[in-house]
Amino acid sequence: MNSQNKVIIIGAGFCGIVTTLNLVKRAIIQDIDITLIHDGSPFGKGVAYNPNSNKALLNVPCEKMSCFHDEPNHFLDWICRQDGFETHTPEFVAKLFLPRALYGKYLLETWNEYISNLPKAITINLIEELAVDISSCENGYAVTLKSGVIVNSKFVVLATGNEKPANPKIQNPEFYSSKQYFQNPWEKTATTNFDPSKDILIIGNGLTMVDTVLELTENKFKGHIYSISPNGFSILPHRHNGTSYTAFSEEIKGKYALNDLYSSYIKHARKLRELGISAEPITDSLRPFTQNIWINLSVTEKKRFLSHIRHLWGLARHRLPVNIHDKIQKMRIDDKLEVIKGKLIDISENDGSITVEYFNKTSNAQEKIQVGRVINCTGPQVNVQKSTNELLYTLVHKGLIQSDIYRLGIVTTSEYEIVNASEKVETNLYTLGGNLRGMLWETTAVPELKKQCHDLATILLSRIEWSSDVNVQDSRKEHSNA
Ligand SMILES: Cc1cc2nc3c(=O)[nH]c(=O)nc-3n(C[C@H](O)[C@H](O)[C@H](O)COP(=O)(O)OP(=O)(O)OC[C@H]3O[C@@H](n4cnc5c(N)ncnc54)[C@H](O)[C@@H]3O)c2cc1C
Repeated sequence: MNSQNKVIIIGAGFCGIVTTLNLVKRAIIQDIDITLIHDGSPFGKGVAYNPNSNKALLNVPCEKMSCFHDEPNHFLDWICRQDGFETHTPEFVAKLFLPRALYGKYLLETWNEYISNLPKAITINLIEELAVDISSCENGYAVTLKSGVIVNSKFVVLATGNEKPANPKIQNPEFYSSKQYFQNPWEKTATTNFDPSKDILIIGNGLTMVDTVLELTENKFKGHIYSISPNGFSILPHRHNGTSYTAFSEEIKGKYALNDLYSSYIKHARKLRELGISAEPITDSLRPFTQNIWINLSVTEKKRFLSHIRHLWGLARHRLPVNIHDKIQKMRIDDKLEVIKGKLIDISENDGSITVEYFNKTSNAQEKIQVGRVINCTGPQVNVQKSTNELLYTLVHKGLIQSDIYRLGIVTTSEYEIVNASEKVETNLYTLGGNLRGMLWETTAVPELKKQCHDLATILLSRIEWSSDVNVQDSRKEHSNA
């Protein structure tokens, strides 16, 4: 095997396996040796598609969840072949929010289907170990594994995905070593083996909070659940599902100044309200343009967005299937779930009882509650400077990768190639997915990720094809002209 044709992909969640599948699907004349290095959540599924509950639902309708950018109906067709779905029309199934576990099954089945029919020229190796370091070497990169073994490759892709949440600031962070504190809300233990006589606090108020509340309920937790966040409960349901509204995106096309975008959004939201519809179709119509808008905002505008509009954007964008929203609202009405708009001050544990002190923004007063467990649902940590991923932490502190100025991810070129701390492009070292938040903003869900996997495979294939007989510099020039 030509050493020029070796690709290492670190992380085998959605991005790792779908990039590999795109390489397998579309390799034409190449010999390719792909090594997937993976440690952590189950192969192919990541935390997203390996939920602790079979009832956890996707937050994107079926029609948008194909893993292949060039086969938009791939998931829909797969679902329609599954037991129990044959009797429904594809048009009906397309709008459903299906179980995340079912999506995990889809990803694995798709993987197995392609891998069992591999073209002879393609080799796939799996290494189940943590990658802890990368250094550049003569023919590319040397990836060091936790065991000390070193694997070399010309091309390396960081598909490292979602990290566990960061610990919120409190006066006495020693609490974070408590056995009843769960920094990782996606671990099964976070919602099992609780003391049924004690209440539970969830820090955070987003989609992970909802998943956690539903899991606790499914696991027969009957006590009171508190949820605290700076803005209180604000998740909206997916209403008007599928209603298309294009007037807003037509109006703003190419004019991407933050003030104008904001006032135009408000104007269109008012128009829709007069028609008896809320603003979700406006937000949805923005989806194809969001990355372009972000790229074209100035640094000052991005910072203003992050300080003042980020919460509103999150509210408009990350919504719940209607039946799940109804369940959560019923729990609030029945006083099983209490939402606190407030700021944590301190958490301490004494004799198995946890005291939480916070400033309640509604009553404007400092208050206390007693609970038996605290679960952190504040969302994945994104600041690589403080990464809990040993690999990213090492790479950022030795300067092979750098954090973007918004502390949202890693700096890359528009072709996913990493720009190191000396502002030099690390040729053939790539990243994608959540690591691109600072570069693209919207880079979390399957509709964006599948395109990135497709595009990155195209770039890799072009460089692999040409690498044996054409200067690599030439292929880079070709891309930057594209
Ligand atoms: C709970 C949850 C629910 C979601 N629901 C949806 C949804 O309904 N619809 C949707 O479109 N999107 C959803 N998302 C978004 C989701 O993040 C993406 O769809 C996708 O799963 C991200 O894939 P990834 O490969 O980038 O990361 P991950 O799936 O996180 O995979 C990365 C993998 O790399 C491994 N890894 C990391 N570092 C190393 C290392 N140094 N060495 C070896 N292995 C390493 C990790 O252990 C992990 O298994 C959800 C996300 C979460 C967290």
